[in-house]
Amino acid sequence: MSHQGKSPSALIEAESLPSASNTRYSPIPETVPAQGPSPSATDGFQAFHLHPSIMAGVQAAGYVTPTPIQMKAIPPVMQGRDLIGLAQTGTGKTAAFVLPILHRLLARPRGQVGALIISPTRELAEQTHETVTQLGRRTPLRSVAIYGGVGIYQQTQKLRDGVEIAVACPGRLLDHLWQGTFDPSHIEVLVIDEADRLFDMGFLPDIRKILQCLLHERQTLLFSATMPDDVRHLVREILHDPVTVQIGLMRPVASVSHALYPVGQHLKTPLLKAILKGNSMESVLVFTRTKHRAERVSQQLRGAGYRAASLQGDLSQYQRQAALDAFRAGSVKILVATDVAARGLDVLSISHVINYDMPDSPDAYTHRIGRTGRIGATGEAFTFVTDKDEDMVRSIEHLLNAPLERRRLPNFDYRARPAVGEFLRAPRRDGRRPIRSRRPAAR
Ligand code: AMP
Repeated sequence: MSHQGKSPSALIEAESLPSASNTRYSPIPETVPAQGPSPSATDGFQAFHLHPSIMAGVQAAGYVTPTPIQMKAIPPVMQGRDLIGLAQTGTGKTAAFVLPILHRLLARPRGQVGALIISPTRELAEQTHETVTQLGRRTPLRSVAIYGGVGIYQQTQKLRDGVEIAVACPGRLLDHLWQGTFDPSHIEVLVIDEADRLFDMGFLPDIRKILQCLLHERQTLLFSATMPDDVRHLVREILHDPVTVQIGLMRPVASVSHALYPVGQHLKTPLLKAILKGNSMESVLVFTRTKHRAERVSQQLRGAGYRAASLQGDLSQYQRQAALDAFRAGSVKILVATDVAARGLDVLSISHVINYDMPDSPDAYTHRIGRTGRIGATGEAFTFVTDKDEDMVRSIEHLLNAPLERRRLPNFDYRARPAVGEFLRAPRRDGRRPIRSRRPAAR
């Protein structure tokens, strides 16, 4: 199935979210029209009446036409409304909240944190911080990214010097709150970004603690690709009369073509190498189920002469950043990542996503595929499937509402026996080493 050649606005399909079942709360209001006329795409960003210094940042970033989420979200956010943004990464959602925040904070005293953006991962926090810096470059507003795994001193110093916007992961933010190095008392806008992933990663207790420090009145914006019940509950508790804007979140962007490659588990790496050899690929993101496998596959690719790196949770922050920088700069062409590590990864030129291992849910498939086919671009998504993956294939086909093309690579030896050591080294589904690979007891 191919969706290539669609216009940017067609990348995002307006789909209806299935309403929450068995929720104890009354349903969240569906899309509420923003007050006043909605700007049309041809008006570009002018129609939002952003401060000229912000418009200069928009222009410098090269944005010409607002994306659908920006069209729908910016007007109500500028009016001060609370908002639920149902949109996945790749839709331009970051600018949809960053631009109104910059506009609002320009009118406030400097040196106080006026907006707090909560992110699930360091990578997303860094990227959001970069977007704030990029769009706000012609304004005097400053932002700081706050996350763990790195020294706290520099963050404390930046906070002490005075910033207006903080982009923070929950754990490290709590450290700052407890140490008294982060003053939440002037926060006017709170953004909870990728709420579903925050919940997935077990951050709900931390978020509740953070919310206890923000008891004063504020504008709250919550962005999420999906609406599990946990997120709905939080929405009902902390958002006041929210506007809901919804941008086709349940389906992968339409500029991506999808294909399945049936293959035995032991032949995945040879197949990956054969595909890489036979296609001209600008930059490739390979997903594996476990950290160990990400590391092993990237080593195997490097051994075969490819410029590959891994991105997985066992790396230090420095190693992760080095891998990301090299991938962005193009010196690494293939990044082998786990779902969590790649979350929020924003590299516009990713041409191919290869699911070395099947994702564990249709949602995860959407998130992985969202890494390619970014605004105005097209991409390809290849998924390796073994016999065990058939149920998930059916779920993804259901999500896409179309059967997925199954491909066989010509001239590939599908009957080859496992390479020596290949089978033995394959990690178990739970990420532990297989029993047979353990060193035999000394006799
Ligand atoms: P996001 O969904 O916020 O991660 O954004 C995805 C990518 O789209 C980022 O690299 C943004 O810089 C880019 N982007 C956001 N808004 C626009 C726009 N209106 N025009 C072109 N690119 C955009």
